[in-house]
Amino acid sequence: MRILCLHCDYIWFKPVKPALRGIKLSKEEKQERRVGECLVVFTAVEASDDLDIVSSFVANIEEIADKVNAKRIVLYPYAHLSSNLASAEIALDVLKKAEQVLKEKGYEVVRAPFGYYKAFELRCKGHPLAELSRSFGAREKISEKADMLVIKGLDKKIDIEKEVARLGKWLLDKRELSTSDHRIIGQQLDLFSFHDVASSMVFWHPKGMLIRKLLIEFSRQEHSKRGYEEILTPQIMDVKLWKISGHWDYYRDFMFLATNTQKELFAVKPMNCPGHILIYKTKARSYRELPIRWLEFGIVHRNELSGVTSGMFRVKQITQDDAHIFCTEEQLEEEIKNVIELIDYFYKIFGFSYRVELSTRPDKRIGSDEIWDLAENALRQALDKLNIAYKVNEGEGAFYGPKIDFHIKDSLGREWQCATIQLDFSMPERFKLEYIDENGKSKRPIMLHRTVYGSIERFTAILLEHYQGKLPLWLSPVQIKVLSFTERNTEHAEKIAKVLEQEGFRVERDFSSRTLDYKVREAELEKVPYIVVIGDKEQEQGTIAVRKRGNRKVEFGVKLQGFVQKLKQEIEEKK
Ligand code: ZN
Repeated sequence: MRILCLHCDYIWFKPVKPALRGIKLSKEEKQERRVGECLVVFTAVEASDDLDIVSSFVANIEEIADKVNAKRIVLYPYAHLSSNLASAEIALDVLKKAEQVLKEKGYEVVRAPFGYYKAFELRCKGHPLAELSRSFGAREKISEKADMLVIKGLDKKIDIEKEVARLGKWLLDKRELSTSDHRIIGQQLDLFSFHDVASSMVFWHPKGMLIRKLLIEFSRQEHSKRGYEEILTPQIMDVKLWKISGHWDYYRDFMFLATNTQKELFAVKPMNCPGHILIYKTKARSYRELPIRWLEFGIVHRNELSGVTSGMFRVKQITQDDAHIFCTEEQLEEEIKNVIELIDYFYKIFGFSYRVELSTRPDKRIGSDEIWDLAENALRQALDKLNIAYKVNEGEGAFYGPKIDFHIKDSLGREWQCATIQLDFSMPERFKLEYIDENGKSKRPIMLHRTVYGSIERFTAILLEHYQGKLPLWLSPVQIKVLSFTERNTEHAEKIAKVLEQEGFRVERDFSSRTLDYKVREAELEKVPYIVVIGDKEQEQGTIAVRKRGNRKVEFGVKLQGFVQKLKQEIEEKK
């Protein structure tokens, strides 16, 4: 089933002519209608649906109606939402049953005629939640060609029929947009935007950039503690490098190319590995230097999308927390163990549970059976020693090495693949990497590719949805908002704000003349973790009033220093 919910000032509709044979409307149904202040639910019942779908249909409507505070529902059959429709009988049964259930729940319900072409006009409200679309039911993967609606500009009259006729087909844009969607959160909190001139690439606004910086800074510290060194390699490199690496043969279609006036051809890097290898090769390496662990917050570009807007989940410009480890065979297991422990540490911080998959040698592969045995054993041993359960995908490794994938589960129960540990027998071979062992003999190092966040863009999106925008204190762009009760308190409130800033907190102020209720509501919408209010009493007593995000209760008479210490601890513990 597919639905599109629009929170409207009004909808007007009028049956024009039958769309299906045998459809008869009552006299009342033939009338034109205008319904004000309502949630319009455009609905397409699909072939895989039956009456069982009604409960989730109603639950979805209820959830959205509750969010936008709508008491009146217009059930509007709308075939254009799907190209895989249910039979007319089933569709009508589902709509009638939903109407009945919604009425029982106390909603006022209007059901627009089924099986009729209708003229309609509506005005969508201007708030960010005014349009929400959902797809649910038998959960067949939503095809990228799925027909959905693009509504350009809010708060204006939209003649959808005309819009559809003019576009030919509906575009996929607002797919499954819900209030927990990072695109909505990103807009509400002013974190990032997208622009046509760089499709599927993120423009980070100051507050979004702060989150990004904090994630990177945390990663940088944790890697440094574990013996990683940070490096940086160029953004574009001569295609001759990509020919050696094999990217030119296998990945060319996804690479952005750049050229200079001398007609040399450069490729924008789709991966960081070849750059790291070049640094490795700048001198003869001894076994004493290994393991080498190099980390780059590398920005890579991959042109592998097809016009689907998924916000930050799939972007063409990706920032990776990308590291490569060069080690000896003897060091491999320990290195893998360390990476797994690092990933586990990160995921616990963010409250993700995860599951692990190990992919082993495929039929077509390079490298001897010996090296595959060694690598697969090292991966298994590391997982076993850490007591981590895993699923084995026999034969699903890359042709150049086995790998471990980590699938995290977010608060909405969805799974995401972020971290990987990939062994690589190919690149050391292609680039003829060597080290001198303790007997003075030249040997090939083993190369490991690994990421923890994966893509910082994607990880940020997952976090925003996982926390529903309520980021933990250490990651919140604004940590404290200081509000004055009246104008009398502005000066004192400013003093408090300054002290908090000097203590290292990210502070915003609202000393406007609006009511305190209004200011509190604003701060809540901005999902600020702590609201500090300064009124006459606080000013006299030298205390502050504190409201923690999600708590209705205000704590009065709080000592500033105690508050500072408590928050510092919360940040330290990354709660
Ligand atoms: Zn790599």
